[in-house]
Amino acid sequence: MSNATYLDFNATAPTRPEVIEAVADAMKSGGNASSVHGTGRAARAGVEQARGRVAALVGADVRGVIFTGSGTEANNQALRRTGRVRLLVSAIEHESVIQARDDAELIPVGADGMVDLAALERMLDGDGGPALVSVMAANNETGIVQPVVEVARIAHARGALVHCDAVQAAGKLPVDMATLGVDFLALSAHKIGGPQGVGALVCRDPALLGRLVHGGGQEAGLRAGTENVPGIVGFGVAADSALRGLGGFADLADLRDGLEARMRAEANKIVVIGGDVARLPNTAKVATPGLAADLQVMGLDLAGIAISAGSACSAGRVEMPYVLSAMGVPEDIALSAVRISLGWTTTADDVDAFIGAWSELRRRGSGPAVAQ
Ligand code: PLP
Repeated sequence: MSNATYLDFNATAPTRPEVIEAVADAMKSGGNASSVHGTGRAARAGVEQARGRVAALVGADVRGVIFTGSGTEANNQALRRTGRVRLLVSAIEHESVIQARDDAELIPVGADGMVDLAALERMLDGDGGPALVSVMAANNETGIVQPVVEVARIAHARGALVHCDAVQAAGKLPVDMATLGVDFLALSAHKIGGPQGVGALVCRDPALLGRLVHGGGQEAGLRAGTENVPGIVGFGVAADSALRGLGGFADLADLRDGLEARMRAEANKIVVIGGDVARLPNTAKVATPGLAADLQVMGLDLAGIAISAGSACSAGRVEMPYVLSAMGVPEDIALSAVRISLGWTTTADDVDAFIGAWSELRRRGSGPAVAQ
């Protein structure tokens, strides 16, 4: 990570040293996990050990873990290959869920950022055929935790299947597939300190799933293509470390809360999005009205600090971030909101560095519109 202070774990986490070692070892060993000779069998053993570790991270049956090329692919496969006529997804899902099918119906969220359960019930009670409902475990922008247990109860009572994108929640909160009661769970290695370009779709019953990528019998016939053995091995090691590190990750809430309190002490008009509902312990989504999010991101980058803004610039115009838009957040707040996401490398010094640089930026950018 080239920024001295890396506070963008929700974008990608630094690769854990033990993962780098395991990936390098797997690359040195080589082998195709489908080959019958010794080298192939050793590669297969690495893949199966990783499958067990990923299953353990989310309390799943090892036979339900299908390795994919990303969290995006896992979401696409679940949403496009379960043969359900209707697809209902919450309005704050990641693009890989929202855009997986053109005919997805959006379940609204409330001003608190949580999916509207009454609206879900109404939508499912309407006619339209067998449905798949997709609601994420925790949102990538705000960290707001979604009521997935209730979603699954409502959906199953109406004959629908349930998919949950747990890419951000896994390794940050305890995630247990049986407790959540979902049929499919999507994971991504790089959000938990594993390599980029590896994900998993965890299925309660793989028979409910069809293949998205054709051309080989790998992954129980559900994901063709030679397995990315080093990536999968690295994913397994990251899953193991993430599971052991859950307690420490929960403690990040203290650092995060302290950071927000210091921002508020500097500028009492800051708005903490999702500040009064359950959030991931590492995520702060904070708006400083009058100080544009992209200016904060660029200014802090110059000071060696990596954070992100949820808004994208298109054709020279900064667009409203859709997650905040779905929550009904006013434009001046949404366009000044940045995401600061902490992780296992974050220290109190990092928080000091952020506060120092952000305060300086705010003073320099100070004008009549800046929060005081
Ligand atoms: N789902 C969520 C909630 C995410 O935050 C991301 C990545 O940002 C993804 C899915 C996609 O995962 P991947 O980067 O492995 O494609």
